[in-house]
Amino acid sequence: MLNNFTDNKFFKKEKCRLCLSSDLELVSEFKSTPLANDFVPSSLLDINQPLYPLGILFCESCSHVQLSHVVNPKLMFEHYVYVSSTSQSFVNHFKNYEISILEKYSPAPNSLIVDIGSNDGVLLNFFKEDGFKVLGVDPATNLAVEANNNGIETINSFFTYELSDKLTRDYGKASVVVANNVFAHIDDLHDVTKGISKLLADDGIFVFEVSYLKQVIANNLFDTIYHEHLSYHTLIPLLTFFDNNDMTIIDCEEVDTHGGSIRVVVQKKNGPKPVNDSVRNLINMELKLGLNTIDPILSLSNKIKELNEKLNSLVHDIKNEGLQLIGYGAPAKATTLLYEFELSDQIDYIIDDNPLKQGLYTPGSHIPVVNADVLRQEIVPEYMIILAWNFAEQIMENNDNYLKKGGHFILPLPDLQVY
Ligand SMILES: [Zn+2]
Repeated sequence: MLNNFTDNKFFKKEKCRLCLSSDLELVSEFKSTPLANDFVPSSLLDINQPLYPLGILFCESCSHVQLSHVVNPKLMFEHYVYVSSTSQSFVNHFKNYEISILEKYSPAPNSLIVDIGSNDGVLLNFFKEDGFKVLGVDPATNLAVEANNNGIETINSFFTYELSDKLTRDYGKASVVVANNVFAHIDDLHDVTKGISKLLADDGIFVFEVSYLKQVIANNLFDTIYHEHLSYHTLIPLLTFFDNNDMTIIDCEEVDTHGGSIRVVVQKKNGPKPVNDSVRNLINMELKLGLNTIDPILSLSNKIKELNEKLNSLVHDIKNEGLQLIGYGAPAKATTLLYEFELSDQIDYIIDDNPLKQGLYTPGSHIPVVNADVLRQEIVPEYMIILAWNFAEQIMENNDNYLKKGGHFILPLPDLQVY
């Protein structure tokens, strides 16, 4: 249901997305940011990009962690820049994903597989090659057109209960529904889950992959906190959530996509498949880590505050000495980092190796994104902060000449380091 947004571009979350309790504790309020993927060309620099509040809530009732505000998804997902097939490691990941579903759950030959948030159809394509009927659903018009052109039938829409009703009439029931990296993006998960249940055959399974809060905390991935990611999931609150929606989690595993995710398998309540021990094991691990309490997310938030102070004082010193600071890497998550650490006015430009990003300007603060030519000059900028810090090792390796010319790398996370 998308009708919370009749006039407004965002609204404040008053109830837990999963258990509907209003017992929500504000863990942390980060600085407001523009939408993380809204890089702009020079022709649009005159347009002021709005900033949206960015806070983290902890549900005292079910322990779900979620954003304090929900931005209208139409602003983020109707044109989507992230195309799965452009990354070979993703293509391989989805092939293995398909094989794993076939081996573990043997859906009936020629049965229907539906992918919610199907992107360019990369996963469905593998099912199609193995003789299944496939159907994608994706709100991004650009991706739906591409998928349809490539022979993967794709409905250009957000997935809702209402849509599931129509799909069931037009296409019949699905043996498998998948949804990858979308369960964190959806506000009304109850409506969507009701729709999934409607669409599933009685012996069908729903499989989803989503970023795992455990890894966000363990690896200080605080910059993955931005408006597209409404939820930071753990298994414990999801267990109750699905139970309340007449469904049961029957299997789960940790996978390494997006800095650490979980893959979860769900069936209708009283469905035919046994519950795997993996569910109990993962719950025990979460209890051991205290992920059912506010403490882990609170300590991440405190760590970011400390880091912020250290980094600010370093940048202050650099600027006081009249030295130049530039950035390396302009992923979406750099937006949270640039705003929270107040780097926007301190960085002259950002180098990115992706030609599609070069020539654009960062969301809101409009820092130019350029190619790496500047590093090949004799005199290089004195300091370069690695914004794509999860690729730091590779970036430093590829640019070891920069160090030899007297440049310094600043690694902001997981701990502040200067090379
Ligand atoms: Zn809750």
